[in-house]
Amino acid sequence: MLNRRQLLGAGLASTAIALPWLNPGVLWAQNAPNLGTPDLPTPGFRKMRLGAVDIIALNDGIARRPLAAEFVKNAPIDQVKALLASQNLPTDYIDVPFTAFLVVSGNQRFLMDTGFADNGGPTTGRLVANLAAAGYKPEDIDHVIISHYHGDHINGLRMKNGQLTFPKAKVHVPAPEHAFWMDDARMAAAPEGMKGAFGGVRRVFKDLPADQLVRFEPGAELAPGIRSNAAFGHTPGMSTFTVTSEGKSFIFVADLTNIPSLFARNPDWAVMFDMDAEAARQTRRRVFDQIVKDKMLAGGYHFPFPAFGTIEPAGQGFQFVPMT
Ligand SMILES: [Zn+2]
Repeated sequence: MLNRRQLLGAGLASTAIALPWLNPGVLWAQNAPNLGTPDLPTPGFRKMRLGAVDIIALNDGIARRPLAAEFVKNAPIDQVKALLASQNLPTDYIDVPFTAFLVVSGNQRFLMDTGFADNGGPTTGRLVANLAAAGYKPEDIDHVIISHYHGDHINGLRMKNGQLTFPKAKVHVPAPEHAFWMDDARMAAAPEGMKGAFGGVRRVFKDLPADQLVRFEPGAELAPGIRSNAAFGHTPGMSTFTVTSEGKSFIFVADLTNIPSLFARNPDWAVMFDMDAEAARQTRRRVFDQIVKDKMLAGGYHFPFPAFGTIEPAGQGFQFVPMT
């Protein structure tokens, strides 16, 4: 029998295990009743040029959830609401967008994270339509690169009927992330609330042909000009990806923060989905400092659309400034 520490892996906080929230693929997809419906961006894609490379933000949708006290684990709800109000944001709910990125480099196309496909709620699952609007078919994707194994990032690899959404793509995954979630002993020992997340990972990866799955060690170069970086904390193996072309750099930070209006402004705040809050906090500060120092463009999976822009120091933390 594994104890809690072994279950979650070295360095993972034992508090994470108590959360029944670790199947965000299910939770994120639900819109709370009586809170209205989020406005989805139209068009749901945005293209930018980085040196010789095109980077295209592809929105999969937005989920609206009531702002609950446990959303920020280590700050009083009044402070959370005050920070939202100071930015003219609603205080009774939170809109969390889901935006993947397509990198077109020469004749190779790399998709970073996947959205939900048809496995999510009514205001998700738009990625393939937005990909089409940007001029690409699912068969055009040569590589899918996965940041981490939470449902909102991987469920779109496979449709509800089991079919692969991007049938020709090699799927690149962080080796430590894959090892963590595919460990059957760890799944067997996991509390009920966490089993769904392990099951969701198996739905996507269990039958993936071996020659389509590419495990990388975080830090490795995945293709010329595309490098992975270890960014552990939110999950045991989360990785960010840096794209460099002609001296310019873009970094996809995945879930370095959930919505930046809370967690870039207060990098020490922990969203309930951070599996090791302390490691996530340190990673957040380190990566944001680096982005500012290197003047990189940054894209985040849960950043407000177009989900890429610059990061600037603000108060005790940082501010995301979306590209206009
Ligand atoms: Zn996420």
